[in-house]
Amino acid sequence: ATMPPLLSAIANAGRHGVLVKSAVVMERLGQIDAVALDKTGTLTEGTPRVTDVRPLTGAGPTGLTGLTGPTGLTGLTGLTGATEPAGLTEDGVLSLAAAAEHPSEHPLARAIVAAARERGLVLPDVRDFSSAPGVGVTAVVDGRTVAVGAPARLLADAAEPAVAMAVGELEDGGRTAVLVQCDGVPVGVLGIADRLRPDAAATVAALTTLTGTAPALLTGDNPRAAARLAAEAGITDVRAGLLPQDKVAAVREREAAGRKVLVVGDGVNDAPALAAAHTGLAMGRAGSDLALETADAVIVRDELATVPAVVALSRAARRLVV
Ligand code: ADP
Ligand code: MG
Repeated sequence: ATMPPLLSAIANAGRHGVLVKSAVVMERLGQIDAVALDKTGTLTEGTPRVTDVRPLTGAGPTGLTGLTGPTGLTGLTGLTGATEPAGLTEDGVLSLAAAAEHPSEHPLARAIVAAARERGLVLPDVRDFSSAPGVGVTAVVDGRTVAVGAPARLLADAAEPAVAMAVGELEDGGRTAVLVQCDGVPVGVLGIADRLRPDAAATVAALTTLTGTAPALLTGDNPRAAARLAAEAGITDVRAGLLPQDKVAAVREREAAGRKVLVVGDGVNDAPALAAAHTGLAMGRAGSDLALETADAVIVRDELATVPAVVALSRAARRLVV
């Protein structure tokens, strides 16, 4: 028997490397007229690397002096060495961060753990792990509360000059700056970089042609890293520093203006936007379980170029149905 057009389109999408969950989804993919892309893991390859480890020496009243005393980081002396009385060494910062990130599935967490492994660091035990999507993680490492995440979100008050300077330098270089705090005190900043996917610019161009609108970038990362990557991909509509609910608001804004938005994302932080969008598409390889479950379709072949391909397939099938 001949397959109905939407079903053969699903089979076709599968051959292109996209798992479309139903015929209804296959049909909706062809209706979209705006696209919102996540950054980390979607527009980028999703295998970021730690490029910088900057211990903070902790000048000032909230510095590290309190931590180096008898009740301080003495448990970590094996990691810190005796040469850094004012703070942790690079390895000390990385060990704490990697221990706290170990249970996380976030691409930045994997990068931090991989960097610690490359240096041959043994990770201290961790308990009471928790993560806040779009913010970072906290955990108790060797009895100390360690927080790792977005500097602007971890530091309640105005950032200390030493932190602000390290963060500013890294972000100016297009890095994602991640702050490491121990018992509420900033002990280091990590610089992390991820590469644009090789097919990102071509995909942005193809989606612009298909939908008549240039895709937008929605990211939780800092505006400077976001702007740099967006420029490389040919995206001008950039919204940075977004929490998961901000991504939802950005999608709803466009839908309220009459758009049918396709959201492409990979993270736990993208799940609410994937659910709110007309159609949600998750990146399969780097994707979190929550994103894969929430999305209407999953990109199994790890290529962004499958996005315009599947939209075009849906449109062709709908022409046959109508
Ligand atoms: P994106 O929207 O680009 O995929 P996320 O919303 O997942 O990014 O993360 C936004 C920001 O929150 C990151 O740039 C980082 O600063 C911080 N963050 C989130 N999760 C983590 C984590 N596990 N470790 C460190 N930082 C994190
Ligand atoms: Mg992401």
